[in-house]
This record gives sequence, C-alpha cells and structure tokens, in this order.
Amino acid sequence: MEQTLSIIKPDAVAKGVIGKILDRFESNGLKIAATKKMQLSRVDAETFYAIHSERPFFKDLVDFMISGPVVVTVLEGENAVATNRDLMGATNPKEAEAGTIRADFAENIDANAVHGSDSAENAAIEIKFFFAGREIS
Ligand code: GDP
Repeated sequence: MEQTLSIIKPDAVAKGVIGKILDRFESNGLKIAATKKMQLSRVDAETFYAIHSERPFFKDLVDFMISGPVVVTVLEGENAVATNRDLMGATNPKEAEAGTIRADFAENIDANAVHGSDSAENAAIEIKFFFAGREIS
C-alpha cells in the first residue's frame, strides 16, 4: 500500500466540486485516509512549493494557493502516487486527457484544480507537512 497527498486547489473548491473530485479517487480504488478543508497562509504555500521558489510563476502560484480554502487529502492504495497522477491529468488542463480531473474541472495552468505528489518520497514529506500521524487511518 502506498500513500500520496492530494490538494483540491482554491479554484475547484470555489466551483463546488470537492465531492466530485473525492469521488474520482474513491471510484478508482484510492481510499481517503485523511482529509480536511483549510486556508493556507502565505508561509504555508511558500514552504510547500519551496522547490519552485526560483521559477517565474512562483509568486502567482503562492497568490493563487492562498486565494481561498483548499482541501488536503491523504490517498491510500496500490500505486497511489501514479494512480492519482493519472486521474489528475497533465499540469496544463489544455493538454490533459479527456476524463481527467484537470480536463473536466480546471481552466488553465495557473488554476488547475488539483495537486498530487510526484513520488512516494515527496508524498511522505507532503503528508507530514499537513497531517499528524493520529489523523491518518
Ligand atoms: P504538477 O505536479 O502537475 O502540479 O506540476 P508542477 O509541480 O510542475 O508545478 C506545480 C504547480 O505550479 C502547477 O500545478 C501549476 O499550478 C503551477 N505551474 C507550473 N508551471 C506553471 C507555469 O508555467 N505558469 C504558471 N502560472 N503556473 C505554473
């Protein structure tokens, strides 16, 4: 069993599609091991996306991630990291395959509905950033 971290970003929360996105996970063999809705602080978003701090889009990314509440979720299942990335679709929704979360719910690369960990190693770091062990089951 593998775990991964999903974030339903502010655009998708504002659209009212939290339930529809969580259903994609459960309908595709991923268990919700923990989930919560929260408002990220600027420091939260800057820390979470620190790897992108030198990229030209960093400030826009942070501004977007704190523009409204998000839903952070620990997903668990076989190949959870890859399964979630498949369900999400490409980073740019215009390139995302039909039927993926980003194709169905995202407008553009700035507001692309969901985050998903890109490796099991990063998933462990990202899960620890948001959840205490006793919140995950
Ligand atoms: P992901 O793993 O598919 O989310 O993609 P990355 O880790 O490469 O990028 C993290 C996030 O930064 C993406 O989900 C986008 O929200 C944002 N991002 C990536 N590339 C760009 C870009 O060229 N412009 C803007 N505005 N945002 C970007």
